Amino acid sequence: MVETRHQTRLLTLLRDDGPMSRVELGERLELPRARVGAEVARLAEVGLVEAAGPSASRGGRRSTLVRLAGELRVLAVDVGATSVGVAVTDASCEVLAHAVEDCDVRQGPHPVLRRVAELAAKVRDEAPGRLIAAGVGLPGPVSFAEGMAVAPPIMPGWDRFNVRDHLGGLWGCPVAVDNDVNAMALGERHAGVARSTDDLMFVKIGTGIGCGIVLGGKVYRGVAGTAGDIGHIRLDDFGPTCACGEVGCLEAYFGGAALARDGLALARSGRSAHLAEAAAERGAVTARDVGRAAAAGDSGAVNLIRDGGRRLGQVIASLVCFINPGMVVIGGGVAQLGHQLLAEVRSAVYRRSLPLATGNLPIVLSELGETAGVIGAAWSATDRAFTLSS
Ligand SMILES: [Zn+2]
Repeated sequence: MVETRHQTRLLTLLRDDGPMSRVELGERLELPRARVGAEVARLAEVGLVEAAGPSASRGGRRSTLVRLAGELRVLAVDVGATSVGVAVTDASCEVLAHAVEDCDVRQGPHPVLRRVAELAAKVRDEAPGRLIAAGVGLPGPVSFAEGMAVAPPIMPGWDRFNVRDHLGGLWGCPVAVDNDVNAMALGERHAGVARSTDDLMFVKIGTGIGCGIVLGGKVYRGVAGTAGDIGHIRLDDFGPTCACGEVGCLEAYFGGAALARDGLALARSGRSAHLAEAAAERGAVTARDVGRAAAAGDSGAVNLIRDGGRRLGQVIASLVCFINPGMVVIGGGVAQLGHQLLAEVRSAVYRRSLPLATGNLPIVLSELGETAGVIGAAWSATDRAFTLSS
């Protein structure tokens, strides 16, 4: 689809900074005007860009703005541990339609990807157009180069299942597969609270805990794609057992699954009337129940969040020392615990990190919430679509 490196840069610039005139494109890309004209003409011919009306006059002849073609569509998929979300966006990653459903990732790739395909058909009906790429976030370690999850602890049946080829065959477009937390970090970096931040950490607290690391504006994935897997940093050699089979991991203390476990124990101990009520109603307690009980002033629930936030804060403090990010963003379902959690994390980080590292360090909640993952997945997808295919 894309034929030259100049076209890649041109399409990326239009995605990132919106419509602009040929003169402006030439200045930003440092290309002669004739070259820009030729590349734009070629991209218009294959339907990737189009005219967008006259630009504001800068004296002299008014020129026409160029923009990404309005009919271009990107599918963005966010597979979580207990839900799937599918969005369709335009080529600038603006969400046009979005559907989210409960879905247990442990069912394995075939049933889950069948749900994904159904949801994709639904959102594409709502915002029809020409599909150019798809992006997928998965809740486990992902080999970005191969487009598959590798030995994911909470995804039985997914190990080395080629999600990229499976969906690419179905949709007939290039597919980028990434870890869900990396996708969320990219979403916040490009369209959320971290818009102007090149170096950031996005900490996701869902069923488990992970961290997306953006350095110099790019996701840092490590050699095998497992960078940022902070949920399994060991805090105590004699701690509780973790889903990964080890003991004392951060995730075994905090996160959705740990909160549900501790909340149920609290309910049974008779030390929390709110949680006892939730347990009596449904036979189980969720992280959301703990959040609601804490918001209602239940002291047992408040303590669970405080303890968890303090442990999470300890880990984040170490990472801040190591990476020196410009911002820490906290997101994921359990981030709905909100300000109580944030206060605990902030106090642990500010107390334990060097003043130079934290002097100008915002620690904030995700701005995009549920759409962070799909916007980031769309971003990776357009990167793939705009890259010169080898
Ligand atoms: Zn673990």
